[in-house]
Amino acid sequence: MNSLQKLGNFCCFLALRTRQRPRLGVKNVRAISYMSGLPETHEMLRQTCRDFADNELAPIAGKLDKESLYPREQVKKLGELGMMSITVPEALGGAELDNLGYAIAMEEISRGCASTSVVMSVNNSLYLSPIMKFGTDEQKEKWIRPFVSGDKVGCFALSEPDNGSDAGAAKTTAKDQGDHWLLNGTKSWITNGYESEAGVVFATTDRSHKHKGISCFIFPKPVEGLSLGAKENKLGIKASSTCNLIFEDCVLPKENLLGEPGMGFKIAMMTLDCGRIGIAAQALGIAQAAFECAIEYAQKRTAFSKPISSLQAIQFKLADMETRIQSSRLLTWQAACMMDAGQNYTKEAAMAKVSASETATFVAHQCIQILGGMGYVNDMPAERHYRDARITEIYEGTSEVQRLVIAGRLLKEYSQ
Ligand SMILES: Cc1cc2nc3c(=O)[nH]c(=O)nc-3n(C[C@H](O)[C@H](O)[C@H](O)COP(=O)(O)OP(=O)(O)OC[C@H]3O[C@@H](n4cnc5c(N)ncnc54)[C@H](O)[C@@H]3O)c2cc1C
Repeated sequence: MNSLQKLGNFCCFLALRTRQRPRLGVKNVRAISYMSGLPETHEMLRQTCRDFADNELAPIAGKLDKESLYPREQVKKLGELGMMSITVPEALGGAELDNLGYAIAMEEISRGCASTSVVMSVNNSLYLSPIMKFGTDEQKEKWIRPFVSGDKVGCFALSEPDNGSDAGAAKTTAKDQGDHWLLNGTKSWITNGYESEAGVVFATTDRSHKHKGISCFIFPKPVEGLSLGAKENKLGIKASSTCNLIFEDCVLPKENLLGEPGMGFKIAMMTLDCGRIGIAAQALGIAQAAFECAIEYAQKRTAFSKPISSLQAIQFKLADMETRIQSSRLLTWQAACMMDAGQNYTKEAAMAKVSASETATFVAHQCIQILGGMGYVNDMPAERHYRDARITEIYEGTSEVQRLVIAGRLLKEYSQ
């Protein structure tokens, strides 16, 4: 039985188990934060995604990166295994797993290829998740079902050339024309911009209400009035596409409004809370891959007639790398479990993202240092991990924005 068949069988088993078992409750949140271990089903998911990453992704990740090749076949395979619609109910064709499962799968897939995992993350948490939460039954049927299997992917269009962190200042407009909406404006940095066949876009319907005048729309792709900018030439995650989406008198049917008029900013913020768990997990996967690369090399490489792993300077680096990875993983799992338990997890998701993304940059940096010159050339994956890690501190809210979110929540919690 090959790894894909094994994962297929595993997913059927998991779907059964998920139906039979209650979702993780508050007790489990506590158990996981004390790190007594993962539930058996999640441990199996972790192992199977790890095998998939080792066999199907890691061997080609360097080539995908060098040639900026979109991982179409790999995305399709992930879709067949349920990994492109992890938390979507089975009734809509999804895997119906929980958010802890999503975090675990994202980490393991990212350990194999961070470009592939960003495609997976955008489809799962930025495209499908807001439609799941705010869509009507008709919208779910039309815009979710065709996007669960990896055949089609979606995108999320919030950022603009003039405002990224300040998303409430959106300049893109959507005018109510009676029987349709008319969109005008440019969205920037859109992941899956080239390959996506639909997306959610945020546009101002009433400027007088500032961020409360932003609404969210589902759009098909291609559609008249929407053109694509050039593909960005990026530092990392090079196998995923990123580009501007330019809306010029783009007509969308009335029924493409997601939620109520003026709910767009709330939809975007709730979507990003969930997305940050995915990016934290992506950062963890990159960090874990860099750590494994470093420790393996340190044990093989000799200097002054002994393995460099016997040098205390190298051992201290490895100790710090592992400590930061494990603490970030606990924060990430905690945020995912809180989401599964229906608790407010905004602060925890921001803490997980800032911790895991800065850990990924730190670990990938130390990995290059441990490899010396070999860390600096692309014969080894260390330099790719370093480049891939960097984006996790920027997208879905920069580290500075995460700290603002954490501090904002803290000040509320401790208000006199
Ligand atoms: C590869 C890639 C993929 C992306 N994919 C998507 C996507 O699919 N969809 C999408 O909508 N967007 C996407 N983005 C956009 C991304 O989310 C933004 O780049 C990010 O939110 C930062 O916005 P900005 O680039 O405009 O930076 P700015 O907002 O201009 O920030 C510049 C600097 O100022 C700091 N700063 C800003 N405001 C504050 C503040 N109040 N306090 C302290 N510091 C502050 C920032 O932290 C940063 O260091 C992507 C970006 C990249 C690079």
